[in-house]
Amino acid sequence: MRLDKYLADCGAGTRSEIKKLIKSGLVRVEGVPKPRPETQVVPETAQVFLRDTRMQYRKYVYLMLHKPGGYLSATWDKHHKTVLDLVPEEYQHFDLFPVGRLDLDTEGFCLLTNDGILAHRLLSPAHHVPKRYFARVEGNVTEEDVALFARGVLLEDGYVTRPAELKILTSGAVSETEVTIMEGKYHQIKRMFAAAGKRVIYLKRTAINGVLLDEALLPGQLRELTIEELRQID
Ligand code: URA
Repeated sequence: MRLDKYLADCGAGTRSEIKKLIKSGLVRVEGVPKPRPETQVVPETAQVFLRDTRMQYRKYVYLMLHKPGGYLSATWDKHHKTVLDLVPEEYQHFDLFPVGRLDLDTEGFCLLTNDGILAHRLLSPAHHVPKRYFARVEGNVTEEDVALFARGVLLEDGYVTRPAELKILTSGAVSETEVTIMEGKYHQIKRMFAAAGKRVIYLKRTAINGVLLDEALLPGQLRELTIEELRQID
């Protein structure tokens, strides 16, 4: 792998910043007298130092994005901005993709990674990964709805959802709820409420597999998962 790519993967900066660092002699590579951006290194064994600090190579990146409305959870789209448009340049070369889909208008925790194995585990129906949402709903959500969600909801296409947990936070003409589902069918929460005669007017994913969306992140902001969060989500 090229030295500049290696350093970008270590989080040392953007490719152009890194080229400057190498050219100004701030990067030392064990066994290479005069390293250049195109110098080849073996990621697993290379000893690379930036201003005398040993670099740690990483292949995978895990980002918690607070997705705002109006962004598609896709890697590219003809008509809409995608969540990748919110990723800073230093992460752009990692081939990130969103794990699972949130609707265009849904906000909240969107996991971006380049780790296909983790993504597969989180998305596989066999793994029953819990995803928690805050849903504001038009209509009076009642204990009957709680029981319906717990039994499984017959959707308009004949599919019966797995048992889901519905908690009523406030109820009235507009109700606020917390819903936890173990699967991820298309528009699932909106369709579950629709089956109960209610309309979701705001939806935000607040947790994936017990890892909570960091409330310090404003819509559009992101940060890397901590080691503990990565352990928990996996
Ligand atoms: N359920 C929905 O209806 N929409 C989402 O974006 C996620 C879950």
